[in-house]
Amino acid sequence: MTDAQRTDWTLDEVRTLFELPLLDLVRRAGRVHEQFHDADVVHVNQLLSIKTGACPEDCGYCSQSVHNDTGVKPEPLMAVDEVVRTAKRARAQGVTRFCMGAAWRDVRDNAQFERVLDMVSQVNGLGLEVCATLGMLTADQARRLEEAGLYAYNHNLDTSPEYYDSVITTRTYQDRLDTIDNLRTTGITVCCGGIIGMGESVADRISFLHRLATLDPHPESVPINVLSRVPGTPLEDAADVEIDETVRMIAVARVLMPTSVVRIAAGRHLMSFSDQALCFLAGANSIFTSERNMMLTETTPCADHASDRSLLATMGLRARVLEPSDQ
Ligand code: SAM
Ligand code: SF4
Repeated sequence: MTDAQRTDWTLDEVRTLFELPLLDLVRRAGRVHEQFHDADVVHVNQLLSIKTGACPEDCGYCSQSVHNDTGVKPEPLMAVDEVVRTAKRARAQGVTRFCMGAAWRDVRDNAQFERVLDMVSQVNGLGLEVCATLGMLTADQARRLEEAGLYAYNHNLDTSPEYYDSVITTRTYQDRLDTIDNLRTTGITVCCGGIIGMGESVADRISFLHRLATLDPHPESVPINVLSRVPGTPLEDAADVEIDETVRMIAVARVLMPTSVVRIAAGRHLMSFSDQALCFLAGANSIFTSERNMMLTETTPCADHASDRSLLATMGLRARVLEPSDQ
């Protein structure tokens, strides 16, 4: 951990940052960004849903929960070859991190987990950073994923501890923290962030950022999602999130967690060119892209490779290239 990774932020300090005038905050975040990162470089990730739908959890935002009538067709765990073919296509498009998501509550020690371990090992063999998001894990399962070559694991806190059970009741905040602790018994890097636009208050956003920034060490990667409102979920009619709210979240995350990669994730497809430029100026340095305008399932939209290449080129940004030493 470097001095830059302060994990003793107080709630008052986070609130003071959060309440700065917007462009003052963006300039401050921009300075931190330039100090710790090459501000011209953007990490490009692709997400693949390897097992879709029929999830027993009741996350109020999610198209894949059995509790939500969203019309998502459940799909069994994909075959290893199909995943590897998709990863090869992603690599050919300049993607450096390939993330595999499963609509599971938790990982079970069964043949499906063995298949996921095989996917991890083969995608790692392609020279990509491999990430997975499979729900809750034990320390032993984390160790097995690490041995298979997993580089990162995504496990979001999603919102503040105070607001959590307004969105999800089938697990607790502590369950999420326990999985992060289990990951920290290995060398796997942690990707942990959340969602805005679920009806949370400003105090919840401040508390959520405070929880992330007091994780010790900080998550190496922090995705900031804007709720994608899915018809049939309890949050289908949630209020719009204005761009200043997203930019503020990104900028505060950047100042609090200077060395982390801050990712603009769900909701980017709704942002204009200038909205996204503001996000990059506020310290975002990673995006999710896709093959066919879809991120996780047919109901979570995402920008595609061609439009993202042109976006980065117009802004004069470069997609990160993996060096052998990054692996
Ligand atoms: N089941 C695993 C879990 O919950 O950790 C992994 C998959 S889950 C779909 C991964 C993340 O996607 C969630 O933690 C949530 O932050 C994000 N997500 C899911 N649906 C979303 C939506 N409609 N809008 C924004 N973000 C969403
Ligand atoms: Fe299941 Fe993950 Fe969706 Fe929650 S977010 S319902 S755990 S797939």
